[in-house]
Amino acid sequence: MDIRSMKSLTTIRLIVQWCFLLWVVGIGIRFGIFINSVESRAAAPLVSRPPGVEGFLPIGALTSLKYWLVTGKIHPVHPAALVIFLAILLMSLLAKKTFCSWLCPVGTLSEGAYKLGQRLFGRNYRLWRWLDFGLRGIKYLLLLIFVKLILLDMPTEALSSFLNGSYWAISDVKMLYFFTHMSVTTVVVLASLTFLSLFYKNFWCRYLCPYGALLGLASLASPFKIRRNPAGCTGCRRCSNACPSDLSVHSCSTISSPECTGCLTCVALCPEQNVLAMQPAFWKRPVPVWAFPLVVVLIYMGGIGAGMVSGHWHSSLSYADYQRLIPLVPYLSH
Ligand code: SF4
Ligand code: SF4
Repeated sequence: MDIRSMKSLTTIRLIVQWCFLLWVVGIGIRFGIFINSVESRAAAPLVSRPPGVEGFLPIGALTSLKYWLVTGKIHPVHPAALVIFLAILLMSLLAKKTFCSWLCPVGTLSEGAYKLGQRLFGRNYRLWRWLDFGLRGIKYLLLLIFVKLILLDMPTEALSSFLNGSYWAISDVKMLYFFTHMSVTTVVVLASLTFLSLFYKNFWCRYLCPYGALLGLASLASPFKIRRNPAGCTGCRRCSNACPSDLSVHSCSTISSPECTGCLTCVALCPEQNVLAMQPAFWKRPVPVWAFPLVVVLIYMGGIGAGMVSGHWHSSLSYADYQRLIPLVPYLSH
């Protein structure tokens, strides 16, 4: 890849990541203003509630998914949670675990942290292979627990009672308070994760995030994969040395690992023309640098758009419901 394309690829991802992060922060602020109207007993909210805030409720979305699979209906209390969850799952099924490296705000901040660590300490660190392998299993274990408790074991009556109850209705407010009223434990945990992320690339994502584990497993089905043409490869290992997921790109012809986030760092750093590419097996011609990012963003926006036009985006809860429910938050926290 020539130097101009390499820079464009890195710049495109940075722009997409930070625009999405700012958009999410904007959603959080808007929701905060909405909740502030409720708390100050205003007759009407200053701004409407942004449904996108439900993207922060992945466990509830999993419950909603089971409800949808069992009943054929999308539960109306927080429908955007399911729509966002499905859009992200679709991204992984079609275009690798790209949510993690292109859109996820936590992924963006993790990446910012390890790059800051590189500047501060001159390098990032790697755990021993055996420890790294063992720790990576934690996120799959957490995923297994959620899948067993919710998708496999939760009976339909329990699903309905959870989704119709006050706990689920007010879960977006609880999530807001998680950030705005942090407990000492929360501050210590977040500070520890940030500290570790300075030294180890994507510490949270690599070892602990069950959402990433699910997306990684879904990404095994993706037709897009990093493919290496051994004929033009000089074995310089720039790809493997730079891979944030620590994959041996230089020695594989296809990267099928669920740990590959589709970040394209390896593609951007390969000095040889048309040796590394993210593309489906059936596509043999070179792919322009903008093509894969466009596919990623279009799948996400298409998923969200489908939810909106099908009427599964806005919550059935009214402003009056929030006025009634918010005083209950302290009693619904545990
Ligand atoms: S293999 Fe390439 S695209 Fe996949 S995580 Fe590593 S650097 Fe990113
Ligand atoms: S960076 Fe390119 S040339 Fe170097 S080892 Fe990786 S694929 Fe081969």
